[in-house]
Amino acid sequence: MINNDRALSHLLDLLAVEGPSGQEAKVVEAISKKLVSAGCKKAWIKTDDAHKRLGAGYGIGNLIVKMPGTIKAPRIMFSAHMDTVPLCKGAVPVVKGNRIVAKGNTGLGGDDRSGCAAIVSMAETILKNKIPHPPMTLLFPIAEENGLHGSRMVRFKDLGNPAMGFNLDGQEPNEIVIGAMSAVRWKAEIKGISTHAGLEPHKGISAGLIGSKAMAAIAEQGYFGKIVKGNRKGTSNLGSVSGGEASNQVMDQCIMTGECRSHSQAFLEQIVKVHRASFERAAKSVTNDKGKCGKVKFSTISDYRAFRLRKSEACVKIASKAVETVDLKPNPLIMDAGLDANNFNQKGLPTVTLGSGSHKFHQLEEYVDIKEYLTACEVLLDIARLAS
Ligand SMILES: [Zn+2]
Repeated sequence: MINNDRALSHLLDLLAVEGPSGQEAKVVEAISKKLVSAGCKKAWIKTDDAHKRLGAGYGIGNLIVKMPGTIKAPRIMFSAHMDTVPLCKGAVPVVKGNRIVAKGNTGLGGDDRSGCAAIVSMAETILKNKIPHPPMTLLFPIAEENGLHGSRMVRFKDLGNPAMGFNLDGQEPNEIVIGAMSAVRWKAEIKGISTHAGLEPHKGISAGLIGSKAMAAIAEQGYFGKIVKGNRKGTSNLGSVSGGEASNQVMDQCIMTGECRSHSQAFLEQIVKVHRASFERAAKSVTNDKGKCGKVKFSTISDYRAFRLRKSEACVKIASKAVETVDLKPNPLIMDAGLDANNFNQKGLPTVTLGSGSHKFHQLEEYVDIKEYLTACEVLLDIARLAS
């Protein structure tokens, strides 16, 4: 059903549009124009205010297209992020054999314009051929690459409260991401007391010593780097250390930052708990001659939460069936990184992530496999049919 020439030209057009994170206005314009000429009413298309809530550095909101259904069924959502990594600035896409590559010394941006173009091609095919379909929301989030910000800011009521989601942001068209891990960033702000290191070191409290003791304690308990406790697994890292002013001055300030990850939310909380307790104990253990001890403020930011979709979940069943319809074997995956779908699942919208033929993300060697991309377009069309 997909018109391959049109699907390919949508992809080439969208790959040529520049749109780093926070500057997606031209992508919004290009996708909207294509959808209007495909038969979308202008009233169905809008952008939300995600950029205003994110603040400086964000020029436009998430692009949301709400298509009414021609049959009564729960609303489904298709999504693909609009932004590309800085490496893709100035990309000129060219066809080389069965691949699309960047002509010059840039990334291509198939991550995730191949997903955007596949959704546009699917919607065009449905509208032009008057294929019966459920109510559908097409969501094109901003700012995925710099921290899943657009999807985090999305309000489900703006999307028409879809019942399930199909996110496009991957490689082979048979891959179905059904789970991902949790990640937390932590920061320890340690306060000591500064004195002359030669004359009165005993009156000072070294923030550096507190940080060192805390990290040593974390490692001794087996919670540094690769963490394995029975069948529970995770990782932790110390990413940066800054503090102190001079070698003859007791260090009164030290800031340490790091991260922890696990596929289990409960175990991640345990890893964080060990970090927090180790810093607090270390702060109490370093005292000066008056018996005063150091202080630490330990804070965390949740990057994304782990999720695991059941095989019986409607979006998993429909995506698997659609992949089988194009004669491929579904490949369910658990990701070690974050996707927009993490935010949707976290907020209660069951969402799988599928591939659209893009490979070697964030590299100069990035390419889109044309056959895989066209297969992904067919898979999307089958999803819309199967959800009816
Ligand atoms: Zn991506």
